[in-house]
Amino acid sequence: MSYLPVKQLLQTEPGQTVTVKGWVRTKRESKNAVFVAINDGSTIHTIQAVAEAGFLPDETLRLITTGACVAITGELVPSQGAGQAVEVQIADVHIYGPADPEKYPLQPKRHSLEFLREIAHLRPRTNTFSAILRIRHALAFAVHKYYNDNGFFYLNTPIITASDAEGAGEMFRVSTLDPLNPPKTEDGKVDYSQDFFGRETNLTVSGQLEGELGALALGKIYTFGPTFRAENSNTTRHLAEFWMIEPEMAFFELEDNMNLAEDFVKTVIRYALDNCADDLAFLENRLKEEEKTKKKEEQSEMTLTEKLRFVVDNDFERLTYTEAVEILRNSKPAKKGQFQYEVSWGIDLQSEHERYLVEKHFKKPVILTNYPRAIKSFYMKQDDESAAAPGPTVRAMDVLFPGIGEIIGGSQREDNLEKLTTRMAEVGIADEAIWWYLDTRRFGSAPHSGFGLGFERLVLFVSGMSNIRDVIPFPRAPKSAEF
Ligand code: ATP
Ligand code: MN
Repeated sequence: MSYLPVKQLLQTEPGQTVTVKGWVRTKRESKNAVFVAINDGSTIHTIQAVAEAGFLPDETLRLITTGACVAITGELVPSQGAGQAVEVQIADVHIYGPADPEKYPLQPKRHSLEFLREIAHLRPRTNTFSAILRIRHALAFAVHKYYNDNGFFYLNTPIITASDAEGAGEMFRVSTLDPLNPPKTEDGKVDYSQDFFGRETNLTVSGQLEGELGALALGKIYTFGPTFRAENSNTTRHLAEFWMIEPEMAFFELEDNMNLAEDFVKTVIRYALDNCADDLAFLENRLKEEEKTKKKEEQSEMTLTEKLRFVVDNDFERLTYTEAVEILRNSKPAKKGQFQYEVSWGIDLQSEHERYLVEKHFKKPVILTNYPRAIKSFYMKQDDESAAAPGPTVRAMDVLFPGIGEIIGGSQREDNLEKLTTRMAEVGIADEAIWWYLDTRRFGSAPHSGFGLGFERLVLFVSGMSNIRDVIPFPRAPKSAEF
Protein backbone atom coordinates (compact mmCIF):
# COMPACT_ATOMS: atom_id res chain seq x y z
CA MET A 1 0.00 0.00 0.00
CA SER A 2 1.24 3.46 -0.81
CA TYR A 3 1.92 6.23 1.65
CA LEU A 4 -0.90 7.88 3.62
CA PRO A 5 -0.73 10.99 5.83
CA VAL A 6 -0.76 10.28 9.58
CA LYS A 7 -4.18 11.90 9.88
CA GLN A 8 -5.64 9.21 7.61
CA LEU A 9 -3.49 6.38 8.94
CA LEU A 10 -4.92 6.96 12.41
CA GLN A 11 -8.39 6.29 11.00
CA THR A 12 -7.40 3.31 8.87
CA GLU A 13 -8.61 -0.21 9.69
CA PRO A 14 -5.79 -2.33 11.14
CA GLY A 15 -4.64 -5.45 9.31
CA GLN A 16 -2.77 -4.00 6.35
CA THR A 17 0.77 -3.02 5.49
CA VAL A 18 1.32 0.74 5.56
CA THR A 19 4.13 3.23 5.21
CA VAL A 20 4.35 6.29 7.41
CA LYS A 21 6.60 9.19 6.44
CA GLY A 22 7.40 12.02 8.79
CA TRP A 23 9.63 13.45 11.49
CA VAL A 24 10.45 11.66 14.71
CA ARG A 25 9.04 13.44 17.75
CA THR A 26 10.22 11.00 20.41
CA LYS A 27 11.92 7.64 20.73
CA ARG A 28 11.42 5.60 23.87
CA GLU A 29 13.16 2.33 24.59
CA SER A 30 12.01 -0.23 27.13
CA LYS A 31 13.49 -3.59 27.93
CA ASN A 32 11.31 -5.33 25.38
CA ALA A 33 10.61 -2.78 22.69
CA VAL A 34 11.34 0.56 21.07
CA PHE A 35 8.54 3.09 20.52
CA VAL A 36 8.85 5.86 17.94
CA ALA A 37 6.31 8.70 17.69
CA ILE A 38 6.10 10.21 14.20
CA ASN A 39 4.41 13.42 13.12
CA ASP A 40 4.03 14.55 9.52
CA GLY A 41 2.15 17.84 10.06
CA SER A 42 -1.18 16.52 8.73
CA THR A 43 -2.57 16.48 12.29
CA ILE A 44 -1.54 17.41 15.81
CA HIS A 45 -1.38 13.69 16.63
CA THR A 46 1.57 11.38 16.19
CA ILE A 47 1.43 7.78 15.09
CA GLN A 48 3.33 5.25 17.14
CA ALA A 49 5.67 2.74 15.50
CA VAL A 50 6.88 -0.22 17.55
CA ALA A 51 9.67 -2.79 17.16
CA GLU A 52 10.74 -5.57 19.48
CA ALA A 53 14.05 -4.94 21.22
CA GLY A 54 16.89 -6.19 19.04
CA PHE A 55 14.86 -6.12 15.82
CA LEU A 56 16.43 -2.92 14.46
CA PRO A 57 20.17 -2.86 13.77
CA ASP A 58 22.05 -0.61 16.17
CA GLU A 59 23.17 1.80 13.43
CA THR A 60 19.52 2.35 12.41
CA LEU A 61 18.34 2.76 15.99
CA ARG A 62 21.06 5.34 16.60
CA LEU A 63 19.78 7.51 13.72
CA ILE A 64 16.18 7.50 14.96
CA THR A 65 16.33 10.65 17.07
CA THR A 66 14.04 13.60 17.61
CA GLY A 67 13.83 15.61 14.38
CA ALA A 68 15.04 12.88 12.02
CA CYS A 69 12.99 12.28 8.89
CA VAL A 70 12.01 8.66 8.35
CA ALA A 71 9.83 6.30 6.33
CA ILE A 72 8.59 3.34 8.34
CA THR A 73 6.81 0.39 6.78
CA GLY A 74 4.98 -2.29 8.68
CA GLU A 75 1.63 -3.73 9.57
CA LEU A 76 -0.99 -1.47 11.04
CA VAL A 77 -2.17 -3.25 14.19
CA PRO A 78 -4.50 -2.42 17.09
CA SER A 79 -2.42 -0.58 19.66
CA GLN A 80 -1.52 -2.31 22.91
CA GLY A 81 -1.02 1.00 24.69
CA ALA A 82 -3.49 3.70 25.66
CA GLY A 83 -3.82 6.94 23.68
CA GLN A 84 -4.13 5.56 20.15
CA ALA A 85 -6.29 3.02 18.37
CA VAL A 86 -3.63 1.77 15.96
CA GLU A 87 0.13 1.58 15.69
CA VAL A 88 2.68 0.39 13.13
CA GLN A 89 4.55 -2.84 13.74
CA ILE A 90 7.92 -1.91 12.28
CA ALA A 91 9.17 -4.15 9.42
CA ASP A 92 11.46 -1.69 7.67
CA VAL A 93 12.95 1.73 8.44
CA HIS A 94 14.38 4.13 5.90
CA ILE A 95 16.16 7.24 7.19
CA TYR A 96 15.71 10.16 4.77
CA GLY A 97 17.57 12.68 6.87
CA PRO A 98 19.07 12.14 10.31
CA ALA A 99 19.03 15.04 12.81
CA ASP A 100 22.22 15.57 14.77
CA PRO A 101 20.86 15.12 18.32
CA GLU A 102 23.61 17.34 19.75
CA LYS A 103 22.64 20.26 17.56
CA TYR A 104 18.92 19.87 16.80
CA PRO A 105 17.34 22.76 18.70
CA LEU A 106 13.88 21.28 19.21
CA GLN A 107 13.92 18.80 22.03
CA PRO A 108 10.82 17.03 23.34
CA LYS A 109 10.21 19.58 26.09
CA ARG A 110 8.52 22.93 26.43
CA HIS A 111 10.38 25.76 24.67
CA SER A 112 9.60 29.42 25.28
CA LEU A 113 7.79 31.34 22.52
CA GLU A 114 10.66 33.85 22.52
CA PHE A 115 13.17 31.10 21.81
CA LEU A 116 10.95 29.65 19.09
CA ARG A 117 10.79 33.07 17.39
CA GLU A 118 14.56 32.86 17.04
CA ILE A 119 14.21 29.55 15.22
CA ALA A 120 11.21 30.44 13.10
CA HIS A 121 12.57 28.16 10.37
CA LEU A 122 11.99 25.13 12.60
CA ARG A 123 9.11 26.18 14.83
CA PRO A 124 6.43 24.83 12.43
CA ARG A 125 7.63 21.40 13.61
CA THR A 126 6.31 22.05 17.12
CA ASN A 127 2.79 21.13 18.21
CA THR A 128 1.90 24.73 19.00
CA PHE A 129 2.98 26.22 15.69
CA SER A 130 1.74 23.41 13.50
CA ALA A 131 -1.66 23.78 15.20
CA ILE A 132 -1.65 27.53 14.60
CA LEU A 133 -0.64 27.11 10.96
CA ARG A 134 -3.36 24.55 10.30
CA ILE A 135 -5.94 26.86 11.93
CA ARG A 136 -4.59 29.77 9.89
CA HIS A 137 -5.11 27.74 6.74
CA ALA A 138 -8.64 26.78 7.76
CA LEU A 139 -9.53 30.40 8.46
CA ALA A 140 -8.11 31.56 5.11
CA PHE A 141 -10.14 28.90 3.35
CA ALA A 142 -13.24 29.92 5.34
CA VAL A 143 -12.75 33.55 4.28
CA HIS A 144 -12.73 32.66 0.59
CA LYS A 145 -15.64 30.29 1.08
CA TYR A 146 -17.68 32.91 2.91
CA TYR A 147 -17.31 35.52 0.21
CA ASN A 148 -17.78 33.05 -2.61
CA ASP A 149 -20.96 31.72 -0.97
CA ASN A 150 -22.25 35.28 -0.62
CA GLY A 151 -21.72 36.44 -4.20
CA PHE A 152 -18.48 38.39 -3.78
CA PHE A 153 -15.66 38.39 -6.33
CA TYR A 154 -12.02 38.08 -5.27
CA LEU A 155 -10.23 41.16 -6.58
CA ASN A 156 -6.44 41.40 -6.57
CA THR A 157 -5.37 44.94 -5.84
CA PRO A 158 -1.80 46.14 -6.42
CA ILE A 159 0.97 45.58 -3.92
CA ILE A 160 3.08 48.40 -5.37
CA THR A 161 1.19 51.67 -5.34
CA ALA A 162 1.83 55.31 -6.10
CA SER A 163 -0.99 56.69 -3.97
CA ASP A 164 -0.09 57.62 -0.42
CA ALA A 165 -3.58 58.73 0.46
CA GLU A 166 -3.76 56.67 3.64
CA GLY A 167 -1.15 58.77 5.37
CA ALA A 168 2.48 59.28 4.43
CA GLY A 169 5.43 58.27 6.58
CA GLU A 170 4.17 54.77 7.32
CA MET A 171 5.05 53.30 3.93
CA PHE A 172 7.93 51.25 2.61
CA ARG A 173 9.51 52.78 -0.47
CA VAL A 174 9.89 50.65 -3.60
CA SER A 175 12.77 51.84 -5.72
CA THR A 176 15.49 50.57 -8.05
CA LEU A 177 17.59 53.74 -7.79
CA ASP A 178 21.15 53.38 -6.55
CA PRO A 179 20.90 54.40 -2.88
CA LEU A 180 24.53 55.58 -2.89
CA ASN A 181 24.22 57.69 -5.96
CA PRO A 182 20.61 58.55 -6.85
CA PRO A 183 19.85 60.97 -9.70
CA LYS A 184 19.02 64.45 -8.38
CA THR A 185 16.74 67.22 -9.58
CA GLU A 186 17.98 70.78 -9.93
CA ASP A 187 16.93 71.62 -6.39
CA GLY A 188 18.93 68.69 -4.98
CA LYS A 189 16.11 66.25 -4.27
CA VAL A 190 16.11 62.62 -5.43
CA ASP A 191 14.72 62.55 -8.96
CA TYR A 192 12.11 59.82 -8.83
CA SER A 193 11.08 60.53 -12.41
CA GLN A 194 14.12 58.41 -13.26
CA ASP A 195 13.03 55.60 -10.94
CA PHE A 196 11.58 52.32 -12.26
CA PHE A 197 7.99 53.53 -12.42
CA GLY A 198 8.88 57.10 -13.25
CA ARG A 199 7.49 58.25 -9.90
CA GLU A 200 7.62 57.53 -6.19
CA THR A 201 6.14 54.17 -5.32
CA ASN A 202 5.48 52.27 -2.08
CA LEU A 203 4.19 48.98 -0.78
CA THR A 204 0.45 49.18 -0.24
CA VAL A 205 -1.05 49.97 3.18
CA SER A 206 -4.56 49.00 2.02
CA GLY A 207 -6.30 47.80 -1.12
CA GLN A 208 -9.40 49.79 -0.35
CA LEU A 209 -9.22 52.59 -2.90
CA GLU A 210 -8.80 50.10 -5.74
CA GLY A 211 -11.34 47.83 -4.03
CA GLU A 212 -13.90 50.62 -4.37
CA LEU A 213 -13.27 50.72 -8.13
CA GLY A 214 -14.07 47.00 -8.23
CA ALA A 215 -17.23 47.33 -6.13
CA LEU A 216 -18.56 50.07 -8.39
CA ALA A 217 -18.34 47.65 -11.30
CA LEU A 218 -18.81 44.13 -9.91
CA GLY A 219 -21.12 45.01 -7.00
CA LYS A 220 -19.45 43.04 -4.21
CA ILE A 221 -15.73 42.34 -4.11
CA TYR A 222 -13.14 41.41 -1.52
CA THR A 223 -9.39 41.53 -1.41
CA PHE A 224 -7.18 39.25 0.65
CA GLY A 225 -3.55 40.13 0.33
CA PRO A 226 -0.32 41.28 1.91
CA THR A 227 -0.34 44.75 3.44
CA PHE A 228 2.61 46.75 4.71
CA ARG A 229 2.98 49.39 7.37
CA ALA A 230 6.26 50.91 8.42
CA GLU A 231 4.80 52.09 11.71
CA ASN A 232 7.43 51.66 14.34
CA SER A 233 5.04 50.17 16.84
CA ASN A 234 6.64 47.29 18.64
CA THR A 235 3.35 45.97 20.01
CA THR A 236 1.88 42.50 20.32
CA ARG A 237 -0.82 43.46 17.79
CA HIS A 238 1.15 45.09 14.96
CA LEU A 239 3.23 43.60 12.16
CA ALA A 240 5.10 45.44 9.41
CA GLU A 241 3.78 42.88 6.93
CA PHE A 242 0.34 41.42 7.49
CA TRP A 243 -2.59 40.08 5.50
CA MET A 244 -5.75 42.09 5.20
CA ILE A 245 -9.21 41.11 4.00
CA GLU A 246 -11.13 44.05 2.56
CA PRO A 247 -14.68 43.56 1.28
CA GLU A 248 -16.26 46.48 -0.53
CA MET A 249 -19.94 46.56 -1.46
CA ALA A 250 -22.00 48.81 -3.71
CA PHE A 251 -25.37 49.87 -2.26
CA PHE A 252 -24.35 48.93 1.31
CA GLU A 253 -24.92 51.55 3.97
CA LEU A 254 -23.32 51.60 7.40
CA GLU A 255 -25.93 49.29 8.92
CA ASP A 256 -25.49 46.71 6.12
CA ASN A 257 -21.73 46.98 6.58
CA MET A 258 -22.05 46.17 10.30
CA ASN A 259 -24.35 43.24 9.60
CA LEU A 260 -21.88 41.83 7.10
CA ALA A 261 -18.86 42.30 9.39
CA GLU A 262 -20.61 40.55 12.26
CA ASP A 263 -21.91 37.68 10.16
CA PHE A 264 -18.52 37.28 8.48
CA VAL A 265 -16.41 36.96 11.63
CA LYS A 266 -18.96 34.70 13.27
CA THR A 267 -19.08 32.42 10.23
CA VAL A 268 -15.32 31.99 9.90
CA ILE A 269 -14.88 31.41 13.65
CA ARG A 270 -17.66 28.81 13.50
CA TYR A 271 -15.81 27.17 10.62
CA ALA A 272 -12.70 26.88 12.79
CA LEU A 273 -14.74 25.42 15.67
CA ASP A 274 -16.27 22.86 13.34
CA ASN A 275 -13.10 21.91 11.46
CA CYS A 276 -10.15 22.40 13.80
CA ALA A 277 -11.35 20.63 16.93
CA ASP A 278 -8.09 18.74 17.63
CA ASP A 279 -5.86 21.76 17.14
CA LEU A 280 -8.17 24.00 19.19
CA ALA A 281 -8.23 21.41 21.99
CA PHE A 282 -4.44 21.41 22.02
CA LEU A 283 -4.23 25.23 22.10
CA GLU A 284 -6.94 25.36 24.75
CA ASN A 285 -4.81 23.23 27.04
CA ARG A 286 -1.75 25.29 26.26
CA LEU A 287 -3.68 28.43 27.21
CA LYS A 288 -4.94 26.83 30.42
CA GLU A 289 -1.34 26.20 31.47
CA GLU A 290 -0.37 29.75 30.55
CA GLU A 291 -3.30 31.20 32.50
CA LYS A 292 -2.12 29.39 35.63
CA THR A 293 1.06 31.46 35.59
CA LYS A 294 -0.98 34.70 35.74
CA LYS A 295 -2.35 36.53 38.74
CA LYS A 296 -5.79 35.31 39.79
CA GLU A 297 -7.62 38.51 38.77
CA GLU A 298 -6.01 38.45 35.32
CA GLN A 299 -6.97 34.89 34.58
CA SER A 300 -9.65 34.40 31.98
CA GLU A 301 -12.94 32.98 33.21
CA MET A 302 -13.54 31.20 29.92
CA THR A 303 -11.62 28.51 28.10
CA LEU A 304 -10.58 29.12 24.50
CA THR A 305 -13.50 27.28 22.92
CA GLU A 306 -15.93 28.90 25.35
CA LYS A 307 -14.63 32.28 24.24
CA LEU A 308 -15.06 31.38 20.57
CA ARG A 309 -18.55 29.95 21.16
CA PHE A 310 -19.46 33.07 23.08
CA VAL A 311 -18.57 35.31 20.13
CA VAL A 312 -20.40 33.09 17.68
CA ASP A 313 -23.57 32.82 19.82
CA ASN A 314 -24.06 36.43 20.97
CA ASP A 315 -25.03 39.64 19.21
CA PHE A 316 -22.27 42.22 19.13
CA GLU A 317 -23.07 45.37 21.09
CA ARG A 318 -23.54 48.37 18.79
CA LEU A 319 -23.21 51.96 19.95
CA THR A 320 -21.87 55.29 18.78
CA TYR A 321 -18.47 56.69 19.62
CA THR A 322 -20.25 59.50 21.47
CA GLU A 323 -22.13 57.01 23.66
CA ALA A 324 -18.92 55.08 24.29
CA VAL A 325 -17.13 58.23 25.43
CA GLU A 326 -19.94 58.85 27.94
CA ILE A 327 -19.60 55.32 29.31
CA LEU A 328 -15.83 55.66 29.56
CA ARG A 329 -15.99 59.06 31.27
CA ASN A 330 -18.35 57.65 33.89
CA SER A 331 -16.39 54.44 34.34
CA LYS A 332 -14.57 53.40 37.51
CA PRO A 333 -11.08 53.52 35.98
CA ALA A 334 -11.75 57.04 34.64
CA LYS A 335 -12.94 58.26 38.04
CA LYS A 336 -10.01 56.64 39.77
CA GLY A 337 -7.58 58.03 37.20
CA GLN A 338 -6.55 54.55 36.12
CA PHE A 339 -6.57 55.18 32.38
CA GLN A 340 -3.20 56.21 31.02
CA TYR A 341 -4.96 58.45 28.48
CA GLU A 342 -7.79 60.69 29.64
CA VAL A 343 -11.08 60.36 27.76
CA SER A 344 -12.82 63.28 26.13
CA TRP A 345 -14.92 63.60 22.98
CA GLY A 346 -12.59 63.83 20.01
CA ILE A 347 -9.75 61.60 21.16
CA ASP A 348 -8.73 58.52 19.26
CA LEU A 349 -9.67 55.76 21.68
CA GLN A 350 -6.67 53.85 23.01
CA SER A 351 -6.64 50.11 23.32
CA GLU A 352 -7.09 50.42 27.14
CA HIS A 353 -10.42 52.17 26.44
CA GLU A 354 -11.47 49.69 23.77
CA ARG A 355 -10.67 46.78 26.02
CA TYR A 356 -12.53 48.31 28.96
CA LEU A 357 -15.68 48.56 26.85
CA VAL A 358 -15.37 45.01 25.54
CA GLU A 359 -13.97 43.12 28.51
CA LYS A 360 -15.38 44.97 31.51
CA HIS A 361 -18.45 46.96 30.50
CA PHE A 362 -20.28 44.93 27.82
CA LYS A 363 -18.34 41.66 28.14
CA LYS A 364 -18.79 40.94 24.43
CA PRO A 365 -17.58 42.22 21.06
CA VAL A 366 -18.55 45.82 20.40
CA ILE A 367 -19.12 47.79 17.20
CA LEU A 368 -18.47 51.50 17.64
CA THR A 369 -19.85 53.85 14.98
CA ASN A 370 -20.02 57.50 13.99
CA TYR A 371 -16.55 58.64 15.05
CA PRO A 372 -15.35 62.25 15.02
CA ARG A 373 -14.45 63.27 11.49
CA ALA A 374 -11.07 64.64 12.54
CA ILE A 375 -9.66 61.26 13.61
CA LYS A 376 -10.83 59.23 10.63
CA SER A 377 -9.84 58.95 6.98
CA PHE A 378 -10.92 61.47 4.34
CA TYR A 379 -13.03 58.95 2.39
CA MET A 380 -15.53 58.22 5.16
CA LYS A 381 -19.08 59.46 4.58
CA GLN A 382 -19.97 62.54 6.53
CA ASP A 383 -22.93 62.33 8.88
CA ASP A 384 -25.60 64.96 8.94
CA GLU A 385 -25.16 67.30 11.89
CA SER A 386 -26.57 65.69 15.01
CA ALA A 387 -27.50 67.20 18.31
CA ALA A 388 -26.13 64.11 20.06
CA ALA A 389 -22.52 64.61 19.02
CA PRO A 390 -20.58 67.73 19.98
CA GLY A 391 -18.76 67.82 16.64
CA PRO A 392 -18.93 66.55 13.06
CA THR A 393 -18.90 62.75 12.69
CA VAL A 394 -18.45 60.22 9.91
CA ARG A 395 -20.05 56.84 9.23
CA ALA A 396 -17.15 54.82 10.53
CA MET A 397 -17.37 51.50 12.33
CA ASP A 398 -14.71 49.67 14.32
CA VAL A 399 -15.28 46.16 15.61
CA LEU A 400 -13.58 45.62 18.96
CA PHE A 401 -12.68 42.17 20.32
CA PRO A 402 -11.67 40.92 23.76
CA GLY A 403 -7.93 40.72 24.25
CA ILE A 404 -7.32 42.36 20.87
CA GLY A 405 -9.07 45.71 20.66
CA GLU A 406 -9.70 46.74 17.06
CA ILE A 407 -10.04 43.75 14.77
CA ILE A 408 -12.01 45.46 11.98
CA GLY A 409 -12.06 49.07 10.80
CA GLY A 410 -14.50 50.19 8.16
CA SER A 411 -17.02 52.77 7.00
CA GLN A 412 -19.59 53.85 4.53
CA ARG A 413 -17.68 55.83 1.89
CA GLU A 414 -18.32 59.43 0.87
CA ASP A 415 -20.02 59.15 -2.51
CA ASN A 416 -20.61 62.87 -3.05
CA LEU A 417 -17.82 64.34 -5.19
CA GLU A 418 -18.00 67.83 -3.75
CA LYS A 419 -18.00 66.75 -0.12
CA LEU A 420 -15.14 64.36 -0.84
CA THR A 421 -12.91 66.91 -2.56
CA THR A 422 -13.66 69.54 0.07
CA ARG A 423 -12.53 67.14 2.76
CA MET A 424 -9.43 66.19 0.75
CA ALA A 425 -8.47 69.84 0.46
CA GLU A 426 -8.86 70.21 4.25
CA VAL A 427 -6.46 67.35 4.93
CA GLY A 428 -4.10 68.27 2.10
CA ILE A 429 -4.64 65.56 -0.51
CA ALA A 430 -4.39 66.84 -4.09
CA ASP A 431 -7.17 65.86 -6.48
CA GLU A 432 -4.59 64.87 -9.10
CA ALA A 433 -3.01 62.30 -6.77
CA ILE A 434 -6.13 60.12 -6.94
CA TRP A 435 -7.95 61.50 -9.98
CA TRP A 436 -8.96 57.95 -10.89
CA TYR A 437 -10.61 57.44 -7.48
CA LEU A 438 -12.54 60.67 -7.87
CA ASP A 439 -13.76 59.52 -11.30
CA THR A 440 -15.98 56.94 -9.59
CA ARG A 441 -17.83 59.84 -7.98
CA ARG A 442 -18.06 61.58 -11.35
CA PHE A 443 -19.36 58.62 -13.30
CA GLY A 444 -22.19 56.61 -11.80
CA SER A 445 -21.44 57.17 -8.13
CA ALA A 446 -23.33 54.95 -5.68
CA PRO A 447 -23.62 54.56 -1.94
CA HIS A 448 -21.09 51.94 -0.88
CA SER A 449 -19.28 50.60 2.16
CA GLY A 450 -16.48 48.28 3.18
CA PHE A 451 -14.06 47.34 5.91
CA GLY A 452 -10.67 45.84 6.61
CA LEU A 453 -10.04 42.83 8.82
CA GLY A 454 -6.46 42.15 9.86
CA PHE A 455 -6.15 38.42 9.22
CA GLU A 456 -3.48 37.90 11.90
CA ARG A 457 -5.68 39.58 14.51
CA LEU A 458 -8.35 37.03 13.67
CA VAL A 459 -5.86 34.14 13.93
CA LEU A 460 -4.64 35.64 17.21
CA PHE A 461 -8.15 35.57 18.62
CA VAL A 462 -9.01 32.08 17.41
CA SER A 463 -5.72 30.51 18.49
CA GLY A 464 -5.71 32.21 21.91
CA MET A 465 -2.10 33.28 21.40
CA SER A 466 -1.03 36.62 22.82
CA ASN A 467 1.62 37.88 20.38
CA ILE A 468 0.80 38.53 16.73
CA ARG A 469 4.33 37.40 15.76
CA ASP A 470 3.31 33.89 16.72
CA VAL A 471 0.42 33.58 14.29
CA ILE A 472 2.20 34.31 11.00
CA PRO A 473 4.86 31.88 9.74
CA PHE A 474 7.62 34.44 9.23
CA PRO A 475 6.90 37.69 11.08
CA ARG A 476 8.15 41.04 9.86
CA ALA A 477 8.55 43.63 12.62
CA PRO A 478 10.99 46.45 13.39
CA LYS A 479 14.57 45.05 13.28
CA SER A 480 13.29 41.60 12.47
CA ALA A 481 13.25 40.01 9.00
CA GLU A 482 15.56 37.04 9.40
CA PHE A 483 13.68 34.18 7.82
P1 ATP B 1 -4.65 50.08 14.95
O1 ATP B 1 -5.37 51.29 15.45
O2 ATP B 1 -4.91 48.84 15.75
O3 ATP B 1 -3.19 50.33 14.67
P2 ATP B 1 -5.58 50.88 12.37
O4 ATP B 1 -6.74 51.71 12.77
O5 ATP B 1 -4.31 51.53 11.96
O6 ATP B 1 -5.27 49.78 13.50
P3 ATP B 1 -6.87 50.17 9.88
O7 ATP B 1 -6.12 51.12 9.05
O8 ATP B 1 -8.27 50.46 10.24
O9 ATP B 1 -6.02 49.87 11.22
O10 ATP B 1 -6.73 48.69 9.24
C1 ATP B 1 -7.79 47.72 9.26
C2 ATP B 1 -7.43 46.51 10.09
O11 ATP B 1 -6.14 46.01 9.76
C3 ATP B 1 -7.34 46.78 11.58
O12 ATP B 1 -8.61 46.76 12.15
C4 ATP B 1 -6.47 45.64 12.06
O13 ATP B 1 -7.22 44.45 12.20
C5 ATP B 1 -5.52 45.44 10.91
N1 ATP B 1 -4.22 46.07 11.13
C6 ATP B 1 -3.90 47.38 11.01
N2 ATP B 1 -2.60 47.62 11.22
C7 ATP B 1 -2.04 46.40 11.47
C8 ATP B 1 -0.71 45.96 11.74
N3 ATP B 1 0.31 46.82 11.78
N4 ATP B 1 -0.50 44.63 11.94
C9 ATP B 1 -1.54 43.76 11.88
N5 ATP B 1 -2.81 44.10 11.62
C10 ATP B 1 -3.07 45.41 11.41
MN1 MN C 1 -8.78 51.43 12.15
